[in-house]
Amino acid sequence: SHALCWFRRDLRDFDHAALFHALKQSRRVTPVFVFDRALLEPLPRDDRRVAFIWQALAELKASLRAAGSDLLVRVGDPAEAIPALARELDAGAVFANRDYEPQAIARDAAVGRTLAEQGVAWHDCKDQVIFERDEVLSGAGRPYTVFTPYRKAWRQKLDAFQLKSYPVDRYRERLARFTAGPLPTLAELGFDAVDLAALGVRCGMSGGAALFADFIARVGHYKAWRDFPAVKGVSYLSAHLRFGTVSIRELARFAHEEGSEGAEVWLDELIWREFYQQLLWHFPHVAHSSFKPDYAKLPFPNDEAWFAAWCEGRTGYPLVDAAMRQLNRTGYMHNRLRMVAASFLVKDLLIDWRWGERYFAEKLLDFELASNNGGWQWAASTGCDAQPWFRIFNPITQSQKFDPQGRFIRRYVPELAALDDKAIHAPWQAKRLPAGFALGRDYPAPIVDHAAQREKALALFGRRGGAA
Ligand code: FAD
Repeated sequence: SHALCWFRRDLRDFDHAALFHALKQSRRVTPVFVFDRALLEPLPRDDRRVAFIWQALAELKASLRAAGSDLLVRVGDPAEAIPALARELDAGAVFANRDYEPQAIARDAAVGRTLAEQGVAWHDCKDQVIFERDEVLSGAGRPYTVFTPYRKAWRQKLDAFQLKSYPVDRYRERLARFTAGPLPTLAELGFDAVDLAALGVRCGMSGGAALFADFIARVGHYKAWRDFPAVKGVSYLSAHLRFGTVSIRELARFAHEEGSEGAEVWLDELIWREFYQQLLWHFPHVAHSSFKPDYAKLPFPNDEAWFAAWCEGRTGYPLVDAAMRQLNRTGYMHNRLRMVAASFLVKDLLIDWRWGERYFAEKLLDFELASNNGGWQWAASTGCDAQPWFRIFNPITQSQKFDPQGRFIRRYVPELAALDDKAIHAPWQAKRLPAGFALGRDYPAPIVDHAAQREKALALFGRRGGAA
């Protein structure tokens, strides 16, 4: 029997559930990938994610070639391309790894239906998480909507089987022997080449492995360092988790077995990722509305000029601006800063969290619908287990606490580099500024007053759903 293995957000050829099951159950397996034209079309020409995916595919293709096989690549609508490939290649089955986003679920259902009409079997496998869908439920059989009990149940359910790698190599000789043409170039796909290396981004399976090795040496410090954006404290693996150039089983197994406090805290972050994935699967309405119905119609004033200032990193709040410039320049933003920037947009600028969510979705290399939505709803207090609405980050104290010497600010807001460690967090409050530096000319004066906006936010949130 001949099967296709359809790669999507799992761009590796080791510890891969769909590839393993396809190889195990078939005599011959052809690896395929489809560039989804409808997903590519709205993206800007210099989209960094497309470049990241392209690099990962190039490496995957080279690795499959080294094993005597290849990667067959099509451009089009996967709902047509996959059944057409199955017909062309006379395949009896298609294997793929599951995706929990509403659009992907609909796409896969459509593909599965068409394949069934052709008499081709559709197999989808759990791969990108340790626990999915309704595998971790409360005692009453309901999905968890609070992280701490979810985390506890997740850890209780964990066993060696869940952490075991899929030994793809055992059946590697069943990969179809064929030669496919080269990958379509980025230019052919309508995109510019992006120099990801210049941005410090390492791509593909080799990039993921290098980052992981680098992090293993630092994991013991994770708890102490992870909140300081100027320090190399986190793993920077998010884009690799997003596109499957690393295996979640390898990562979770390491975190589980390592034993340090840092590794335990890091495992919790991997569990947060799965918490939001299962949440999106159980409550798909969060993709367009608040988790809590009471918060669905908060009357945000949505000032467009303020939104533009936030996007461009010129709000006059140095840490917020540094964060947004990091995002714009590199496609990454440190977790502490995602929380600060998101809170500032919603509770200082009083702008609908969905505007910020959309902006992050455009810019983040690691954009993940479930985590991005979860993070935004957390910051906006509209989500499950969110920051309480009356708790509002002070962007100046966050800056003093998490970037005490202004090292991160200086890196991304160089016009403030000459300010001293005290002044840099709130230049407009400084008694003395460096000679030749003029606030309002060299760097914006703050576009809002935090104390005043805080009161407005409290009033706005206090009125939600008609509550007192
Ligand atoms: P590490 O600290 O090394 O964590 C390891 C991994 O755990 C991450 O790669 C990620 O997969 C997962 N993780 C860590 N924190 C979280 C979290 N709070 N929620 C869910 N998963 C987490 N993460 C994304 O992957 N994609 C997004 O689009 C995204 N948008 C966010 C938006 C907002 C407003 C907020 C507050 C958070 C968002 N996060 C998102 C979560 C988190 O900020 C990033 O996962 C993290 O900064 C990535 O850096 P890292 O890989 O070095 O993380």
